[in-house]
Amino acid sequence: MSKNSHLGHQAKKRFGQNFLHNDAIISDIVDAINPEPNENLIEIGPGLGALTEPVIERAGALSVVELDRDLAHRLRHHPFLAPKLTIYEQDALKFDFAELASEEKPLRIFGNLPYNISTPLIFHLLTFKDKVKDMHFMLQKEVVERMASGPNCKSFGRLSIMTQYQCQVIPVMEIGPEAFKPAPKVDSAIVRLVPHKEIKNPVKDLKALNQVCLSAFNQRRKTIRNSFKKLISAEQLQSLGIDPSLRPENLHLDDFIKLANFITNNPINENNDK
Ligand code: SAM
Repeated sequence: MSKNSHLGHQAKKRFGQNFLHNDAIISDIVDAINPEPNENLIEIGPGLGALTEPVIERAGALSVVELDRDLAHRLRHHPFLAPKLTIYEQDALKFDFAELASEEKPLRIFGNLPYNISTPLIFHLLTFKDKVKDMHFMLQKEVVERMASGPNCKSFGRLSIMTQYQCQVIPVMEIGPEAFKPAPKVDSAIVRLVPHKEIKNPVKDLKALNQVCLSAFNQRRKTIRNSFKKLISAEQLQSLGIDPSLRPENLHLDDFIKLANFITNNPINENNDK
């Protein structure tokens, strides 16, 4: 049997397949998720069912989104999981999670995510945050660090700002490569994301916040006077109470919010492009 084979399935690299196989770790993850009956639970990438099975044991029913048709087929024919599963054989990146949500039953989404698409997938999932109660994901440890990072840290960037603006970010546990088959080359971590019920200092336009982050962190070694010069002048930065000689990683979330609102109010500022 090949070293990348697990439970008779040959792991596919293109689908980011690294299967959990350590019962103690699986049990800790399920404890962190804490699934309960009658909740609106959705798993992304159930794979061979390492998390699916113990979650079903506690919750009784579960929706899953799985892109690999072989794995979706296995689940559809699984003797005791199949009747309790609603299987969507689809790409989670394109999946309309809102379709499964209701006012009374907000979504509880979880998964050991395929690492090759984890950042775009997180951005896609954040678009449904108003319908979500919480999310638990296994990600590369480095991605969880970026999500949870604060100002003046190397890992502080667009992912930190866009996630923290919308959710509380709680790193839950770290997991080494040996917990998976095949073992990935990186360390992993579980993160809990809890969407804010109310955003105290909201941006006028979320796209503007994203745009400010892209301009800032595209060249993170530049001072913001330089990286923002197409969007806002040094004088205007000062009038917002932001020091133009800082680097983007020195700014706080509130500064990015001010900048986003500024560019929403002043969309084209050609004169600054000097
Ligand atoms: N949950 C299993 C476990 O923990 O052992 C498998 C986790 S594995 C890291 C990622 C899973 O996501 C695989 O089952 C893979 O086929 C699935 N997958 C990959 N890309 C996907 C996508 N775009 N949409 C939905 N599922 C995807």
